[in-house]
Amino acid sequence: MDRNQLKQLNKLSAKSYNDQKALIKRILMGKPAKCPTCQQNLQFLETQDSKGATIRCRQGCTDIELDIS
Ligand SMILES: [Zn+2]
Repeated sequence: MDRNQLKQLNKLSAKSYNDQKALIKRILMGKPAKCPTCQQNLQFLETQDSKGATIRCRQGCTDIELDIS
């Protein structure tokens, strides 16, 4: 577990962690998902090195880093 992931875990309460997992699942299944905060559509973006991906909304209130390597 790298420092970033640890930071992210500490930031999240158990509930929002579960909410995020549900969001991630929807997006990976190709279903539309909206930011729970601003209700805008979430985007799935691969990182430049292709080792991970980010799920985020335009305003940035949702910004989830995924490690898909
Ligand atoms: Zn948002």
